[in-house]
Amino acid sequence: MRILLVEDEEKLSRFISIGLKAERFAVDCARDGEAGLEMAEFNPYDLLIVDLTLPKLSGTELIRRVRRKNADVPIVVLTARDALADKVANFESGADDYLTKPFAFAELVVRVKALLRRGSVNRSNTIQIADLEIDRLAHQVRRGGTAIKLTAKEYALLEYLASNPGRVLSRTMIIEHVWDQSFEGLTNIVDVYVRQLRAKLDDHFSKKLIHTVRSVGYVINENGVE
Ligand code: CA
Repeated sequence: MRILLVEDEEKLSRFISIGLKAERFAVDCARDGEAGLEMAEFNPYDLLIVDLTLPKLSGTELIRRVRRKNADVPIVVLTARDALADKVANFESGADDYLTKPFAFAELVVRVKALLRRGSVNRSNTIQIADLEIDRLAHQVRRGGTAIKLTAKEYALLEYLASNPGRVLSRTMIIEHVWDQSFEGLTNIVDVYVRQLRAKLDDHFSKKLIHTVRSVGYVINENGVE
């Protein structure tokens, strides 16, 4: 699952994003309202977390604009303000839930998961490719009915590949999605993780699902590279 976090307080943003990544979400961070809106329009997020007081474009206005094009994506608002009028205004603008700062991280996770579960009425939370099954809410992976234990990063990588079956994903795309935008290491980190993932997912099975597309990247596909 991919989450967009729009929060200008750097420390808080880092704290939330590290925590969500530990919960195996892929997290993109925007530091102002305009950047957040652009990312929300460009990428298919499963959920948005939006601070209200943001530079360039307020959180309320950001939500209003996102809602014009996307009625379904769940949105959690973060705010230091606890006034009733603010809450009403934000629910009217299209927020689904509300957390007042300071909040316990566990509380945020509970709200996020509840909203994602609610959304699952309209959208499948299970990905199935051949005999591979991924439960996107429980973050459980099975192949041929056997549970496979993955690290948080391996899981995020697999979920990204599997959310785009048949689509070749470049190392850069994978890094931007699975790692975060501040990652400045080498793109061969992707190769290292793909190798680990294959060892757990593909090596013991005759049908290989993860395929290398030479000099481009990787694709997950039942029928190999076409
Ligand atoms: Ca703020």
